[in-house]
Amino acid sequence: MSEEPRIPVAPDEETEIPESHPRHESLLARHRIEEGVEKGITSLQGLIAQGRGEAYDYLLGERTIESADAAARAAAAHFLLADHPVISVNGNVAALCPSAVVDLAEATGADIEVNLFNRTDERMAAIAEHLHEHGASEVKGLAADAEIPGLDHARATVDADGIHAADVVLVPLEDGDRAAALDAMGKTEIVIDLNPFSRSPQVADVPIVDNLVRAIPTMAEHARELRDRPCENLKTIVEGFDREAALAAAEGAIRSGATK
Ligand code: ATP
Ligand code: MG
Repeated sequence: MSEEPRIPVAPDEETEIPESHPRHESLLARHRIEEGVEKGITSLQGLIAQGRGEAYDYLLGERTIESADAAARAAAAHFLLADHPVISVNGNVAALCPSAVVDLAEATGADIEVNLFNRTDERMAAIAEHLHEHGASEVKGLAADAEIPGLDHARATVDADGIHAADVVLVPLEDGDRAAALDAMGKTEIVIDLNPFSRSPQVADVPIVDNLVRAIPTMAEHARELRDRPCENLKTIVEGFDREAALAAAEGAIRSGATK
């Protein structure tokens, strides 16, 4: 008989998921996404996106590979050098790691903007409120007074003094189309996505192939370590990053099946 701790099929509280369970992290993520749907934060499509992400995470050995850590470091350097860095937050990101988003914004002086693929006023407001509950002082995205060129209206909507004006944008889990449109606006784009073949990391200046629940805290950690460094030093880190090599390393890790 297995000695694994037993867990309820659909736990009501995070504390019902025993930390000793070998799939604790994954169960916690599922619980948070499910709760996100119940609270009106996450869309039903978000459940499917999470499933696709989990499959790739499994293939990567559910760890931050070395190239993803280097990408998170380059991303942190980009944020520290930026005039106006913005973290774009969707329903999955808000449900999975709201505190980590707030912490990264604090560590880098970035703005937080809610930006949804399936935009509704209710969901925008619910996510903004959820982020405030987790310590965010200002959440952008509700003004909706600018557009990203080249996209249809609903998906183009952003804030004029937020993503529209940003020079560096972190888009964890962006749709491929929108990632390309942001890129065409000349922004430096940092994408977190577990699937290195997805179009969004393919067009990113810095693709971080990692689970966002690991990548966002990793980026904050690097930012705190780097934030007193001179600009020249940060620029060297940015220039030393090779996006093609990072994507190839992630693909290599998946294909080789090496979990260490
Ligand atoms: P496209 O090629 O247009 O980018 P896609 O494969 O990315 O398509 P989506 O519906 O955008 O299709 O899929 C969601 C994406 O989000 C997947 O690439 C998946 O790997 C990624 N993803 C889901 N959950 C996470 C997570 N927790 N951390 C990182 N990436 C995730
Ligand atoms: Mg994608």
